[in-house]
Amino acid sequence: MRNKKWSLLFVGAVLVLGSVDSRAEQKQVTAEKAMNQSNAVTEGLKTLQVGEVKITWIQDNAGEKLMPRGLFADASDELIDSLALQQGVPSSIGVFWMETQGTGILFDTGMGGASGHMLTGLRALGVQPEEVKYLYITHFHGDHIGGMLENGRAVFPNAQVYVSRVEYEAWMKLPAEQNVQVVETMKAYQDRLHLFEFGDQLPGGVKAMDASGHTPGHTVFQAGRVLVIADLIHGAALQLEHPEICASFDMDKKAAVAVRRHFLQYAKENGLTLAGMHLPAPGFKAW
Ligand SMILES: [Zn+2]
Repeated sequence: MRNKKWSLLFVGAVLVLGSVDSRAEQKQVTAEKAMNQSNAVTEGLKTLQVGEVKITWIQDNAGEKLMPRGLFADASDELIDSLALQQGVPSSIGVFWMETQGTGILFDTGMGGASGHMLTGLRALGVQPEEVKYLYITHFHGDHIGGMLENGRAVFPNAQVYVSRVEYEAWMKLPAEQNVQVVETMKAYQDRLHLFEFGDQLPGGVKAMDASGHTPGHTVFQAGRVLVIADLIHGAALQLEHPEICASFDMDKKAAVAVRRHFLQYAKENGLTLAGMHLPAPGFKAW
């Protein structure tokens, strides 16, 4: 009799535990489903919530992008072979839309023209170009400012544009054949152009930091635990482990190596999420 009672109790316990188990499982499945759904809203978009900062990667290029092996002349054939990167290094062209402290900020604008998909991505997030109030530019290369103009007119008619004073002044001094795009673009935004100094705090509590090397005023931005690393990295599979390797786009290689080392270390020490304009999809790297 006593044995039977115990065995009934045991069966009961198993049933109760079993149902708790399956409920927990179900919960997990639902959570996973929700996560997959939010990841799959639109191809080329990925949103992360990092503390108080919400940041979305918007892919500007179509399909897959490989940076050719030839861009990384500093990398030995042995290293390239060992990482199976002979065909190129996975990359992308991206921009970021950030929401922080009640402020929406667009970081860079991609290529623009027929090949740029930045506006499509932005609209998919429910943001129209005229609603962009803040546009922060990391540097003046065409794959970052190309989306600011369309047929010579400002794509973002109401945006306050922020760019490093060092970057601006350096490009304005270049010969015309090198800076036509920059001059034309800045002219279209001249009434709402803000030149910041490195170390400045910009609207939204975003700090602008000196990452010069890739270009004279190349800027990295920090908001909370997010670091927008601009073009510190062109080939993640190579350069995250080997920051001493430059892409041929780096204008001052020595300085580019120094800041790449510095900011990767800084991000690791502080547990920051990297948001990179040329990181492979989905544009983020977290430690
Ligand atoms: Zn770039």
